[in-house]
Amino acid sequence: MLNGYRFEMIIGCMSAGKSSELIRRIERARLAYLPTIICRPATDTRSKPNHVESRNGLASQAIVVESARDMLRYSSQSVVIGIDECQFFDDDVIDVVQALLKQKKKVIASGLDLDYRGKPFGPVPYLLALADRVDKLLAVCRKCGSDFACRTQRVVQSSEQILVGDSQYEARCIHCFEPPFEYQLKLELPEQASIPATALLV
Ligand SMILES: [Zn+2]
Repeated sequence: MLNGYRFEMIIGCMSAGKSSELIRRIERARLAYLPTIICRPATDTRSKPNHVESRNGLASQAIVVESARDMLRYSSQSVVIGIDECQFFDDDVIDVVQALLKQKKKVIASGLDLDYRGKPFGPVPYLLALADRVDKLLAVCRKCGSDFACRTQRVVQSSEQILVGDSQYEARCIHCFEPPFEYQLKLELPEQASIPATALLV
């Protein structure tokens, strides 16, 4: 039986290192001889079959599942279950994760928290509310180079929520992020008082 955190989430924008962090945590469990699996949805066609791959070249064996419920068929022999690209599952994943936790398994899920519009992605907000530990990873902004990229900018025209592929996206900070017009903030903001530099140090 495991102690400690039961449900961990690793979230953030693209290129933040989510998959490599998931692989690191799963490999760590494997070094302790805990039976593990990683599942990823069939929607994500970038990795080679039966693998999860990170952009920095890490790879681990993974089971490609058509639906969240399929994970229950493969998880019975495992103690630690990794879920990559959890934003691509439908809402069933919320019940599936809770069923795994009831079976005293540890679940580590990674995925995008926001879609290209800057809106919460699929079941991720629900999963975040259930998680015992959340790590939000940031990337480097492709436009200004700041260390605080937290949005995934789509750089091609399409209104599909899911458009799989790395070349259509880049990581951006909130100042450089340009969502489609209909998703831009419409609030009239009052004139900003200048913020003393010391306030930014808090
Ligand atoms: Zn930027």
